[in-house]
Amino acid sequence: MILCINPWVEDFSAYDLWAKPLGIIEIASWLRRGGFDVDIVDFLYQYYLSGQKEPAQTKSGRGKYRKVEISRPEPLKNVPIPRRFYRFGVSLEDAERLLARYPHPKLILMTSVMTYWYTGVQTTIAFLRKCYPDVPIILGGIYTQLCRNHAETVFRSCEIAPKETYPFLRERLARAIGASPELPLNRLEIPMDYTFYPGIPYIPLRFTRGCPFRCRYCAGPLLEPEYKESRLRTVKETFSRWYMDGIRDFVFYDDALLFSKETLLHPFLEWAADKGMKARFHTPNALHIANFDRKTLDLMMASGQWELRFGVESLFKEKRTLDNKSSRKDLERATSLLSEAGFDTDRVRIYLLAGLPNQPRVEAEEDIKIVRQAGLRPVPNEFSPIPGTPLFEEARKVSPFDLTEPLLQNKSIVPCRWEGMTWQDMQELKELSRM
Ligand code: SF4
Repeated sequence: MILCINPWVEDFSAYDLWAKPLGIIEIASWLRRGGFDVDIVDFLYQYYLSGQKEPAQTKSGRGKYRKVEISRPEPLKNVPIPRRFYRFGVSLEDAERLLARYPHPKLILMTSVMTYWYTGVQTTIAFLRKCYPDVPIILGGIYTQLCRNHAETVFRSCEIAPKETYPFLRERLARAIGASPELPLNRLEIPMDYTFYPGIPYIPLRFTRGCPFRCRYCAGPLLEPEYKESRLRTVKETFSRWYMDGIRDFVFYDDALLFSKETLLHPFLEWAADKGMKARFHTPNALHIANFDRKTLDLMMASGQWELRFGVESLFKEKRTLDNKSSRKDLERATSLLSEAGFDTDRVRIYLLAGLPNQPRVEAEEDIKIVRQAGLRPVPNEFSPIPGTPLFEEARKVSPFDLTEPLLQNKSIVPCRWEGMTWQDMQELKELSRM
């Protein structure tokens, strides 16, 4: 038996915006397809136990996690923000009951996500060590890729998976179990097995891996340097299999969904509309507003209901070199398109970045006002400095914190705060965006 684990999250806040750990699901799907006895225990998943839903869970699957208050880890103890710290996910008792469902594993594969969530990984590993003191644990995921040295120091009792995870796992499985599956030729073609998640209320879809853009604040190019497209047929098969099963909420996990719209998204939506398979589509990873056009909007409206999220980030890009993916003109053009088509703008959000290195409050405030004047809802997100990105070194120069400590990369503390943008300013900007 191989157990794949998605660990607890420890943070000031966390909200489940259709977050599923696609990397570990992909590995588990690959292993199961190769004939291995494998399962996923997701410590964040709400539906495991007697199928009960959380009261705060919406029917489309996003919502609050269960949480329990814990003390702050040492590096965060003296950070002056009036916020409590929590462990998010299933309770300790429920985690024990979950593990009791499985035979003793031969190998544990664990993923990780945000760099500043590594204490949740530590807690999960300590918990697993009590149940399985001698089982090897292989730790991979985003945190280990971005902070490999840190992970090797903190998680000495685990093996840290290299970037080329699949060849490594193959060799490691052969050693632990005496067999290993064939390497996938194209990871986008691994049929994702969502039956690992009993009662899952929505299904992730993905046409592409990676992103052709190179925004200076984003970890995407470090994690997936190459942009690759899937075959249309693969996504159609996933969609229709789950649609026939009664699922109506589908979540696009692409980083650049509209980049390949002519060859992938448009034909997919034409096909779904043609078959009369209307659904609700969500885009939490945000769309490129510059690639949004009338044809895309018409096809979206014909295929069901869409929650549109656009990653605009800043309307003052000429002042700060952030990215070249959109401009103020793109925002204006998209606004006209949405209003001419009669699209319900309550279902549109514009993501903005606030708390960038040296960004004054007035600039973030102006971004919010411009979006609001356009009749759309701005969502200011605190900037989180990600190691290895071009903006990280700029962030280190201006931050009052030692950003080499991953816990201090947490966006909730406003890592690049200064007198022109304090933690309090950030709260007021969020209030402004909701008014
Ligand atoms: S477009 Fe999005 S995913 Fe691509 S590099 Fe920029 S922020 Fe990252």
